[in-house]
Amino acid sequence: MIPAIKEVRFIKSSPDSKSCPQEVYPEYAFVGRSNVGKSSLINFLTNRKKLAKTSTQPGRTRLINHFLVDEQWYLVDLPGYGYAKVSKAERKKFLPLIKDYLSSRTSLTCLFLLIDSRHDPQQNDLEFIRWLGENAIPFALCFTKTDKISASQQKQFFEKFRSTMLQDWEYLPAVFFTSTLNNSGREEILHFIDDTNKQLKESAC
Ligand code: GDP
Repeated sequence: MIPAIKEVRFIKSSPDSKSCPQEVYPEYAFVGRSNVGKSSLINFLTNRKKLAKTSTQPGRTRLINHFLVDEQWYLVDLPGYGYAKVSKAERKKFLPLIKDYLSSRTSLTCLFLLIDSRHDPQQNDLEFIRWLGENAIPFALCFTKTDKISASQQKQFFEKFRSTMLQDWEYLPAVFFTSTLNNSGREEILHFIDDTNKQLKESAC
């Protein structure tokens, strides 16, 4: 059975990690290059049509957005990096903001790094992944828009990504494949979050 989400509440948008809400809940953050399908995935996971739309309103795309799920965990919508529809100077500010959040937030339980299934490993994704490793940030990979490619293309793409990553890594993190069009991947991600929250609770006892 898919873990149910009963309530999702927007808490706040923060311009930097210092302004984020108190660290009282485990956090699961979502990040990726602009247009990777992050807003769609967040809406799909929470079963709310317009939840992440609020973060795409002008001004919000460059902020860290906290949503509280069932009074149990924070879903964090981070700014997109890469080819944002903003000036180059503006774009350059996003990565330091994201890195500042990731390296200072001790309640960060997992970062879901979204990668578009259709593209070969991109330099800025690989550099970012390397940085995550160097800074011991817990993360999972989430390949989006899998409906746009065939099963064999998906396998081929993933093999390429895997072998590129294994040049730097001994093993791969958790990997998810999603399509908001085909309704796939939701159950796996929500189970992962649910199981991780249960483990956290048990280890706190
Ligand atoms: P964001 O900039 O990362 O928040 O990306 P959006 O969620 O706004 O999505 C960017 C574009 O990709 C939109 O046109 C979406 O409709 C489309 N998109 C997002 N997820 C999927 C998916 O799973 N399958 C397909 N075919 N299109 C998607």
